[in-house]
Formats: sequence, structure tokens, C-alpha cells
Amino acid sequence: MLDDQDLWTEESADGNGPAELRAENISAWFGDHNVLDRVSLTMAAGKVTALIGPSGCGKSTFLRILNRMHEMIPGASLAGEVKLDGEDIYDPGRRVTAARRNIGMVFQKANPFPAMSIYDNTIAGLKLTGLKASRDEKDWLVEDSLRKASLWEEVKDRLHQPGGGLSGGQQQRLCIARSLAVAPRVLLMDEPCSALDPTSTRRVEETIESLREQVTIVIVTHNMQQAARVSDHCAFFLAAQNTPGVIVEHGDTQAMFNHPRDERTSDYVNGRFG
Ligand code: ADP
Ligand code: MG
Repeated sequence: MLDDQDLWTEESADGNGPAELRAENISAWFGDHNVLDRVSLTMAAGKVTALIGPSGCGKSTFLRILNRMHEMIPGASLAGEVKLDGEDIYDPGRRVTAARRNIGMVFQKANPFPAMSIYDNTIAGLKLTGLKASRDEKDWLVEDSLRKASLWEEVKDRLHQPGGGLSGGQQQRLCIARSLAVAPRVLLMDEPCSALDPTSTRRVEETIESLREQVTIVIVTHNMQQAARVSDHCAFFLAAQNTPGVIVEHGDTQAMFNHPRDERTSDYVNGRFG
């Protein structure tokens, strides 16, 4: 049995389990193009927060700022703070790798290493984040992560076959398993189901449901039914023409869908634009 502590080296002081993620006055630019303007949002620990809104309003940019990927884009800049359980992830004394390990990300297009085995794909993040594990620990971690991603039963007899041989939906769950293997406290998902068929979508939604309370989840989705099914809280992003994206309204998902306070939210959630 794996002792979690073995995997938590110097950054174990960061703690474990789901963390609150708080964005404060986040603005973002690509060159001089301002794409987000002072966006603040608290993503509660162990809850699912959905980000909705039309294309181009800055949802993906916001997500990338939450785990320090935005700064990798040439010409990109930002202002504001991101706090993980109160600790500023952009504090110069903190490592980028710590932010990435604590705050994992799953993308729209499943991106397993195609030639790498399912087993090695699952634990690929260990090496990247400098975590060490014995063979037994790896075996345990592979099974545990694949189980959490609801993929274990489908792949347990072919762990050493390439990840690229799985179906699209299975590849996406493999990417979720890979994210979970480094024990993140927050999992960001950018339209994780938009390339999947309905059955695979359902499996990913079931996975989100089973991860609830274990990890804080922030999911971008264009599917209003999905937002309503999976999320506790919801934030509606909007960028009016030639203006940066802002959050028009956020709050409890059911309340926001049933009794939106802003007319633009009402129009969007009822499919009148976007
Ligand atoms: P969303 O995810 O809501 O569709 P994005 O965050 O992808 O929105 O994009 C927000 C704005 O930033 C858009 O105007 C988009 O064209 C611009 N943008 C996104 N990525 C880049 C990039 N790498 N370089 C320049 N502009 C970008
Ligand atoms: Mg996007």
C-alpha cells in the first residue's frame, strides 16, 4: 500500500486534499490586446465550478492563469492574484512546478503520449514534477488513478499497450487519470467533453461526480445541460464587442439557471445567443 507521504517531498507543507482557489482582480493581455478585465472568483474547495460563456470571452485564458500556463505564451501578461488556500501561486518564492502539480489541467483534445503505454501515461506526471516512487508504489498509483478516472476495468488487462490505441473517450479518461496521479488539489478541465460522443461524455461526467469532495474542479463547458448536471457553482463570462471578458454573474448553479439576476445571463443560459 502506498503511503501518500512518500510522494510528498518538500512541498508537502502545501497540504493535501481539495483546496480553495481564489482569483482576485485577474486581468490578461496578449500583447496589448486586453482579454480579461479584473475578474474575481472563488472556487470552493471540493466543489465543482462551471465556467460558461460564448467563445472568445477569455474562459481558457482564465483557466491557464489559474495554473501558471498563461505565462508560457510569448507576449502574454497578466495582473491580479491567484490564491490556493490563501497562498499566492505567483509568489516569486514559489515554484511553477508546485503550482502545476497542485493544480492539474485536462484539455479539450485528449493528449496522451500516443506511443507510451497506458501504465506509463498514467504516471507520466511523476517524472515531470520530480516525484519519486518505487515499483510497488507505481503499480498502486496506476490502479488508483485509473479507478478514480473510471477507466481501470476497461484497461486493466492491457496496461502495457499504447495509450494511443484507446478510444477518444478512454483517452480523455486516461488524461484525467494522469492528472490525478500527482494528487492535485484542484483539477481544471477545459471543455473536456466537447470532442466526445454522448456515452463517453456521460462517463466523464460520472468521473467528475465521483471526484467531487476529493478535488476542487473547475470546468469550462458550452453545454448548459452539462453545467447544470455537474456543477455546484457557475460563473458566466462575457466579452462585449471590443471589450475584455468579465464575469457578468456567478453563484449557485441551480439559482443561476432558474433565476438569473442579469438579463444577459438569462439570454445565454436559455440559448438565445452564443
Ligand atoms: P474562450 O476560451 O472563452 O473561447 P480564450 O481565452 O481562448 O476564450 O480567448 C480570449 C481572447 O484571447 C480571444 O480574443 C482570443 O482570440 C485571444 N487569444 C487566446 N489565445 C491567444 C493567443 N495564444 N495569442 C493571442 N491571442 C489569444
Ligand atoms: Mg476556450
